[in-house]
Amino acid sequence: MPDSRPISHPLRIAVIGTGYVGLVSAACLAHIGHHVTAVDSDAGKVHALQRGAIPIYEAGLQPLVAAQAREGRLLFSHATVDAVHGADLVFIAVGTPTDAQGGADLRALRRAVEEIAACIVHPLTVVIKSTVPVGTSDAARAALRGALARRGIDWEVPVLSNPEFLREGTATEDFLNPARILVGARTAHEAAVLGLAYEPLVRQGVPLIVMSPRSAELSKYAANTMLAARISFINEIADIAQATGADIEEVREGLGTDPRIGPAFLKAGIGYGGSCFPKDVSSLRNAARSLGVPTDLLAAVERVNERHRHWPVARLAQAYGGRKALRGLRVAVWGLAFKPGTDDLREAASLVVLQELVEAGAAVAAYDPVAMRNAVDLVPAHPLLEWRASAADALEGAHALLLLTEWREFIDFPPERVAEQLKDALVIDGRNALSAPRWEAAGLQVHQVGRPVGDTHPSLPVMPWRDAGDPRARPAAAAGTS
Ligand code: NAD
Repeated sequence: MPDSRPISHPLRIAVIGTGYVGLVSAACLAHIGHHVTAVDSDAGKVHALQRGAIPIYEAGLQPLVAAQAREGRLLFSHATVDAVHGADLVFIAVGTPTDAQGGADLRALRRAVEEIAACIVHPLTVVIKSTVPVGTSDAARAALRGALARRGIDWEVPVLSNPEFLREGTATEDFLNPARILVGARTAHEAAVLGLAYEPLVRQGVPLIVMSPRSAELSKYAANTMLAARISFINEIADIAQATGADIEEVREGLGTDPRIGPAFLKAGIGYGGSCFPKDVSSLRNAARSLGVPTDLLAAVERVNERHRHWPVARLAQAYGGRKALRGLRVAVWGLAFKPGTDDLREAASLVVLQELVEAGAAVAAYDPVAMRNAVDLVPAHPLLEWRASAADALEGAHALLLLTEWREFIDFPPERVAEQLKDALVIDGRNALSAPRWEAAGLQVHQVGRPVGDTHPSLPVMPWRDAGDPRARPAAAAGTS
C-alpha cells in the first residue's frame, strides 16, 4: 500500500458522466467547497461545457456551473485520467438504461470502472451514484481488484454505493437539501470519506445513513418503485371514480390528508414517465425474476401505467364517437416533456400520444416550452406532425386541445383565447392541471382524469341495496318457501 495522505475537506473529486445526475452532482459538490473535475465520453458535451453552455435544461444549473467554473473549482475533461489523477473520490454517474431483457444495461458503468482501473496510481474511493442492480458495487469492487492485480497493484479500492434521489426540474435544490444521504459501505471506516464529502450538508442537519452497499442499492429501487406504485394506485382509483361518479380530486384530498398516507405522488393523470421510474420498475422486476422472486404488485403497476398513457387519445376518441372520427381532425398538443421543469423526453407519455394521433389520421400541432429541440431529435418526422413555436401557435386551426405536461404557462393561459381558437371547444387535460370551472366558464368542455365533465351528471350505476346473499334480495321462487 503506498503512502496514503490524510484526507480532509475540501476533497478532490472526479465525476464520471455529465448527464442530469453527474453535472448537477459535480456543480453542487464544487458549490459546497470541493475541487471537482467532471468527465464525459461525449466530446461534444465536454466542449459545450468548457465553453459555458449547458447541454440540458435544469432550472438554476447554468449560474451554478458558471460560478463554480469561474472560481476554478469545477473543470471539465474528456479524459478519465485527468479527473482520476490525484482524486480522493471518484463518483460514477453514467446512464443505466433498460437493456433488451428489461434489466439494467451496465455497459457504460463497466467501461467507466475499466477506465478508472487503468489510471489508478494512488489509493482512492469509488462511489456509484448511478442506479444499479443489487450487488453491482460488490461486483465493481471485485473487477477493480482484478484489474489492479493484473497491473501488480495489491491494495483494495473501496467501492461505495451512494444512490441519488434528485428530481429533474428541482435537481440542484434536491442535491443541496436532500431528505437524507444514503451511504452503502462495508465498514464505517470506508464510509467516512463520504461523511467528509457531504460534511457541509450534514452540518446543516441532513441525516447521513450508513448501511451495506446492497441495502443502499435496493433502497433506491424501493423508493422509485414505491413512488411509481402510488401513481398507478391513484390512477386505478381514478378509473373507479370515473365509473362511479366520484371525483378523484376530492378523493385525493380525502386520502392525502391521512397522515399515514400523505399527499405526495397521488396525482391522477397519464402516468409516470422519464428516465427513472419506468426503467427502475422494469429493472427491479427483471432482477427479481432471475432470482425466482415474484413481483405481482410491480407487474400491475406497469400495466396500469401503460393503460393511462393511452387515456388522452381514448378520451378524445370517445368524445368524437370513435377512433375513426379522429381522421382529419386537427389537434393541438401542449407539453411534451415527461414533467414540467425538464427537457427530458425519455419515456414521456407524449411520445405514445403523438404516435397514436398520427396513426389515427389526426393532424397534430405540438409545442413545449423547453423540450422542442429534444422532440425534433427524438420523434420521427411525419407529414401529419408539426412543431409549433408557442402555445398560441399550436391552437391555430385546431379542433381540440390535449394538455400533456403541466407547465405553468399552460395553466395560466387565458381560457378565453383557447375558446376563440378551438373549433370544437374541447380540452383533454391529462394532468388534471387546469381549473375546470374557469375553463368551462369560458365555454370549453374540459375532460380530466377521474373527474365528471362539467356539471352534467353522468348516468351513474345503480348500486344494489341488498346483499345478493340476503334471501330478501332473491326472487321468491329462487328463495324457496319453507
Ligand atoms: P444521462 O444519460 O443523462 O447521463 C449519463 C452521461 O454519462 C452521458 O452524458 C454519457 O455520455 C456519460 N457517459 C457514459 N459512459 C461514460 C464513460 N465511460 N465515461 C464518461 N462518461 C460516460 O443519465 P442521468 O439521467 O444523469 O442518469 C445517470 C444515473 O443516475 C442513472 O443510473 C439514473 O438511473 C440515475 N438517476 C437519474 C436521475 C434523473 O433524474 N435523471 C435521478 C436519480 C438517479
